[in-house]
Amino acid sequence: MNYDLLFDPVKIGPVTAPNRFFAAPHATGHGFSLPSGAIALRETKADGGWGTVAVQITEISNDTDMANHPIERIWDEVYFKPHAEQAERIKAKGALAAIELGHGGMRARNFATGMPVIGPSDLPILKPEIPVQAKAMDKSDIRGFRESHKKAAQMAKRAGYDIIYVYAAHDISILSHFLSRRTNHRSDEYGGSLENRVRLLREVLEDTLEVAAGERAVALRFAVHEVGAKLAMTHDGEGREVVEMLAELPDLWDVNISGWSADSNTSRFSEEGYQLEFTEFVKKVTSKPVVGVGRFTSPDKMVSVIKSGKLDLIGGARPSIADPYLPNKIRENRVEDIRECIGCNVCVSMDAYGVPLRCTQNPTIAEEWRRGWHPEIITRAQKEQFSLIIGAGPAGLDCALTLARAGHQVTVAEATDEVGGRALRESKLPGLHGYRRIAEYREYQLRQMGNVDIYTSSPLSPEDLPEFGADNVVIATGSTWRSDGVGSGNFDPISWPQGARVLTPQDLMGGAKAEGAVVVYDDEHNYMASVLVEALRKKGHPVTYVTAEQAVAHWTAYTLEQRKIIARMKEMSVPMHVNSSLLGFDGTHVQIQNDLSLTGPDSLACETLVFVGARIPENTMLSKAQELLGEGKVTICGDALAPGTMQAATLSGHRIARSILDQGTGFFRLEEADI
Ligand code: ADP
Ligand code: SF4
Repeated sequence: MNYDLLFDPVKIGPVTAPNRFFAAPHATGHGFSLPSGAIALRETKADGGWGTVAVQITEISNDTDMANHPIERIWDEVYFKPHAEQAERIKAKGALAAIELGHGGMRARNFATGMPVIGPSDLPILKPEIPVQAKAMDKSDIRGFRESHKKAAQMAKRAGYDIIYVYAAHDISILSHFLSRRTNHRSDEYGGSLENRVRLLREVLEDTLEVAAGERAVALRFAVHEVGAKLAMTHDGEGREVVEMLAELPDLWDVNISGWSADSNTSRFSEEGYQLEFTEFVKKVTSKPVVGVGRFTSPDKMVSVIKSGKLDLIGGARPSIADPYLPNKIRENRVEDIRECIGCNVCVSMDAYGVPLRCTQNPTIAEEWRRGWHPEIITRAQKEQFSLIIGAGPAGLDCALTLARAGHQVTVAEATDEVGGRALRESKLPGLHGYRRIAEYREYQLRQMGNVDIYTSSPLSPEDLPEFGADNVVIATGSTWRSDGVGSGNFDPISWPQGARVLTPQDLMGGAKAEGAVVVYDDEHNYMASVLVEALRKKGHPVTYVTAEQAVAHWTAYTLEQRKIIARMKEMSVPMHVNSSLLGFDGTHVQIQNDLSLTGPDSLACETLVFVGARIPENTMLSKAQELLGEGKVTICGDALAPGTMQAATLSGHRIARSILDQGTGFFRLEEADI
């Protein structure tokens, strides 16, 4: 396939993007207080060939304080300098720099500033769990907001950004709140008819165009469709009408779907290009260029999207996190080198949790400045060494790849007949097919290198190690799921009577069969239990989900999957019990107790208990290996060190490799608190 089309320049108002790759605005978890890390992260994308690099939501004033999310600010002069540096560094790499100015309206909390939250109407803010209410804006508030937006646009222009965004998406924008019938209950000229509800957006667009004065482009990010909301904007209803009303006003339409969980949908619940059915109409309505997202990682798909007239620019947030060098790899005909996003939303979870970005596929993200890591370049080792890696899971593979890239002679020994460890095993579960990419990318890269040998069906014991004569041995042997009732909420083993059928995720992935009615007990709280529920339900078992936590798959609230998981379990008629601790299992029934009321125990019919709890690190060979080879030669990483997510495993493998290479793992650079 010829990908030249992806490298066409695209005129966006008065500026020209050098190609169609558009690194969409996304949370980096750095925010205003960690500018150096955020700047380096975005500069890296520009270096990797993204023709436009956009900065995430940037608060325009102190009445839109989104703390606890680490968000950028351009409230006043104090915040100017890092923006100027950011724009300059992005542009120095040949990309356009864009900034998404935003006011959170009814999504702000203003805890940090004590300012009143403002919105179109006197209503509680759009975070029902937070007891804050918004004040209905009067005319002077509206004037004040427009002034703030103009001032922010002026500062953004002065800072050197090429594209200035007006933001009305994700339900995180005051402009969306004015647009929506759900939140706009006004009876003046800013409420009621759609024409009235669009008024403020139109005014702010006009204000921003006035500031841009034909020297900067003005983009509108607009959610054309809100998934599952009451009185929603829809792509075939009011969402379309808004595009028709403002069609030629912005220089660029950046269109998506809302809320954030729909926009950043995971691979478990959506395919590449999942937004197109909602956004593709926009190009038919406007003559202005259109950018959209949808976890695009395949250049073939990108070409077909452009050729079929659905988008002009390929937006990528997660694809640009997983591989900041994706465009360059396509340009250089190295498509097979792309490190494709797996759609797991670990990146999203970090922002939602309020800390800097992490990525399962790209362990160097957010470490460009702090640790000096580059996603593609590993400095050549000063001395060629021989490194033996035991275990070919995510940790072992990333460690091996990093060392091999530095020029080490690398041998990977894997006990099973497959390369990939848990990434491969889990990818066979419903919805997790994309997780294969963790293994596939690394295995492919390793197999291209002349300095790497991979041996499968090769379980090693400590006694095997001396004969290798390796300079470094890295133990990456993973972990084993516990079956004894120990998990996040219970540290006391439970004993089951002889013959009671208790299976772990590992047993099920290894082919063990459940019998009859199944209870899946979730004491891990990530995705695994819910995925097994789905697999077992598909096999026809009656399945009940039980967890001691107060919510189903608690951590997945941060990956934006929780509601979808609950909905899917409901669709599959799976009863769900929360706040319910497992007391015991006699082979025919499990006993659970409600942790809040302490009522029960209740008894649930159960032939097979699937226990998803803690894991035991496979570290037994460490001390013997150190005894035989000397302590300095043997290290351990990934789940074998401390069981965690696959993201933690790739980072751990990478970190251990860098420490062997002595490349940037000693001390973090100090994080700034300079503004
Ligand atoms: P991680 O997420 O830390 O990479 P995984 O469980 O995915 O952990 O991978 C660990 C890999 O190590 C598995 O593929 C497992 O088969 C392999 N392994 C475990 N013990 C040995 C051993 N003694 N010799 C070789 N390979 C091993
Ligand atoms: Fe993609 Fe997962 Fe990386 Fe996010 S963390 S960019 S979803 S691979």
